[in-house]
Amino acid sequence: MTTSKIEISGLRKQFGDLVVLRDINLKVEAGAVIALIGPSGSGKSTLLRCMNLLVVPEGGRIRIGDDVFAFDGSAKLPGVREQARFRSNTGMVFQHFNLFPHMTVLQNVMEGPLSVKNMPKAEADALARRLLDKVGLSDKVDVFPNKLSGGQKQRVAIARALAMEPSVMLFDEATSALDPELVGEVLNVMRALAAEGMTMIIVTHEIGFAREVADRLVFMRDGVIVEEGPAREVIDNPKEEATRAFLSHFH
Ligand code: ADP
Ligand code: MG
Repeated sequence: MTTSKIEISGLRKQFGDLVVLRDINLKVEAGAVIALIGPSGSGKSTLLRCMNLLVVPEGGRIRIGDDVFAFDGSAKLPGVREQARFRSNTGMVFQHFNLFPHMTVLQNVMEGPLSVKNMPKAEADALARRLLDKVGLSDKVDVFPNKLSGGQKQRVAIARALAMEPSVMLFDEATSALDPELVGEVLNVMRALAAEGMTMIIVTHEIGFAREVADRLVFMRDGVIVEEGPAREVIDNPKEEATRAFLSHFH
């Protein structure tokens, strides 16, 4: 019997000769928040991108909920329909917001449900308004993205990801491109999602936030998970020298 929401085993990825993920094994319980940290180039983004099939691994297996993909090195994926279903399990938020500039905030959030899920317009409208309210942007529904601050754009991006009703949210340095005074409003939205029981993997350099919000911390280096454990324990008392060295940059 499996109770975990996400199970990754033996995951391998290389770009040409560069091995980026060596043998990644990771289990995430439903409702858990995982902070994924590590130096630049350690493979964090690639790992998240594999989970969303933006990158196709050479080997290993990823299960999210009841959907499983096993990768056999053929770089081929099963049918488009399976891919779409698998992908719709995971909402992804990137460092750069990638909002559609020619659409209003409301239209940006409605777009996925309308075009991917064929949701009726009235329903998509109601869903988008509810989500924009949740991220504190009810007053910006009719505004175009170029009129928003970075923090507001990122909150729209979160609402847009949530509009696909994913069971897992993946955040890849969602606050790294923001001015420092705008980081808090985005972290607050992420904190609220965590409190609601959303299963999340958060790549972040906000160690204080990770310590406070994450259940578990995963430290990656050179394509390997070096250390993993309860977030507070690992941050306050890392077992591995590499983890200690990395964390020392944040004090
Ligand atoms: P991180 O997010 O931890 O900084 P990444 O997963 O972005 O690390 O990158 C890991 C390594 O893989 C880096 O050396 C990076 O240059 C390389 N890499 C990432 N994506 C590609 C790609 N599409 N093609 C070639 N190399 C890539
Ligand atoms: Mg990255």
